[in-house]
Amino acid sequence: MARVAFIGLGNMGGGMAANLAKAGHDVHAFDLSEEALAKAKKAGCLVCDSAADAVKGAEAIVTMLPAGRHVEQVYADSVFGNAERTAVLIDCSTIDVETARRVADAASAKGLTAVDAPVSGGIAAAAAGTLTFMVGGSRSGFERAQGFLEDMGKTVIHAGGNGAGQAAKICNNMLLGATMIATCEAFVLAEKLGLDPQTFYDIASVSSGQSWSMTSYCPVPGVGPESPADRDYAGGFAAALMLKDLRLAMEAASSVDAQAPMGARAAELYQRFSDAGSGGLDFSGIIKALGAK
Ligand code: NAD
Repeated sequence: MARVAFIGLGNMGGGMAANLAKAGHDVHAFDLSEEALAKAKKAGCLVCDSAADAVKGAEAIVTMLPAGRHVEQVYADSVFGNAERTAVLIDCSTIDVETARRVADAASAKGLTAVDAPVSGGIAAAAAGTLTFMVGGSRSGFERAQGFLEDMGKTVIHAGGNGAGQAAKICNNMLLGATMIATCEAFVLAEKLGLDPQTFYDIASVSSGQSWSMTSYCPVPGVGPESPADRDYAGGFAAALMLKDLRLAMEAASSVDAQAPMGARAAELYQRFSDAGSGGLDFSGIIKALGAK
């Protein structure tokens, strides 16, 4: 078992750090929030006074922060000057591809190895240790990070070089955002045309319109397996976070001159949904804005 630093103990990081502690690691944790620190302590982590203290002597340094600027700042202020040369830096936050590559290059210039390892799966998967990690970095960086990631998830995939994990994450979520909206539209239209939602589900879920949004996360209450729709769209994956990922996808698309008209439209619709005060609802709640009864 190893000494691990964990920085960013929020909704996701709190559960992930707890799982590393449960796996027997010596988890030295830091967050700006006292409340998050208190929870981490209860979950078996050792609470530190600063990120720099957490990082010293760690074999792996995991960050789970809101955005690229937080990662860049924590790396520059606390990680680069304090990490052991043998440590592996694992950033699990969802950030832009460009920043992910820049921080990995900066780490490499200091003789450190960094990988980007964003996750698929929400707060419940973080707590249950069932996340999927998509990892960008060298083969040796991936191998050094793999065991730690396996202690926090069920699937760990090497996506390619630095930034490839973030690229996979935003391409996946762009597809998910667009598919969810299309699924919502189909249910709304079906109902307006007089079809019973359950009957439409029974047909489309075994036909060519089938998707994860339909069969694992159906946006219509009472149809398909239990999903946030059955809790009036509370919990789950917030529309505001979907919007964040769609914006990252749009930034990435324009940086490489890729056409993404469906992703762009999904970003517009989630922007409107968030502006209307619904950013805290699960992203499948967008069905309400599309005319669902
Ligand atoms: P969160 O806001 O709950 O947690 C972020 C934590 O980082 C907070 O506790 C905050 O205090 C801490 N923090 C910020 N700056 C810091 C600093 N300089 N030093 C130490 N701590 C600092 O966010 P979250 O929901 O846990 O998401 C974290 C990341 O995971 C984001 O990049 C998000 O996009 C991604 N993500 C979230 C979900 C989800 O369902 N919530 C799913 C997949 C990916």
